[in-house]
Amino acid sequence: MSDGRALARAFLEQQRLLGGDPVILADSRTGPRTPGSPGLRPGSPGSPSKELPSPGISYDPPAGDLFSNDPISQAPSLAAVAALVAQCTRCRLCEGRTHTVPGEGPDDARLVVVGEGPGRVEDETGRPFVGQAGELLTKILAAIDLPRERVFICNVVKCRPPENRVPQYDEIGACVPYLFRQIELLKPKVILAMGSTAAQTLLDTRQSLGALRDRIHRFRGVPVVVTYHPAALLRNPHWKKPTWDDVRVAHRLLA
Ligand code: URA
Ligand code: SF4
Repeated sequence: MSDGRALARAFLEQQRLLGGDPVILADSRTGPRTPGSPGLRPGSPGSPSKELPSPGISYDPPAGDLFSNDPISQAPSLAAVAALVAQCTRCRLCEGRTHTVPGEGPDDARLVVVGEGPGRVEDETGRPFVGQAGELLTKILAAIDLPRERVFICNVVKCRPPENRVPQYDEIGACVPYLFRQIELLKPKVILAMGSTAAQTLLDTRQSLGALRDRIHRFRGVPVVVTYHPAALLRNPHWKKPTWDDVRVAHRLLA
């Protein structure tokens, strides 16, 4: 990080976009525990002295064993997973797709972001989160100092559901081995589950997003932070502040 002032400016811009509290700037730049520093609003809900959320659900689906011949659980690399996805006809979503959207990012990414499924622009391009919701995601990541190129970004289902409907239970069941294998290969430090489809799939629960937020869950031991989906944020700007709180938790877990 070279130019501190440019960075500060970028942060203030993120605050404006995210509707957050400028206090966050002090928190992010000076370390996690500075309760007496000037400019802090005492007792504000996102104040730096806030403890990390308490533990939530742990989900440990069995990994593919060494001797199975299931190609997904045996895929040796992210590229190999993407190649399998490209030919996949395991569910009806293959029928309407233009491109599969396996996900993208470096194979040493420390953060994995999981959304629901490709939308129109994603289906057209084969890339995750490149529409309007994607632009917001890119800004959210920049706000915690993470260029999106350093994050692995993917979805629960890899083909676009018609009219962007929520993926059905059997479609998720057919597709999820790809996501689980991607996470197994990546071994991330933190997973950010955006929206209830991602959260419920990664934690094997039907609990609502509201019930799942503000806990640190685990998927095969990896901390899972649950937050709103960026598309939901575009519709409900008052969720930006809680999202910002969640993203800061993910940031602290990455440190
Ligand atoms: N919404 C998602 O859940 N994923 C995308 O890739 C784009 C929008
Ligand atoms: Fe295969 Fe997943 Fe696409 Fe269904 S959504 S066809 S399981 S890649």
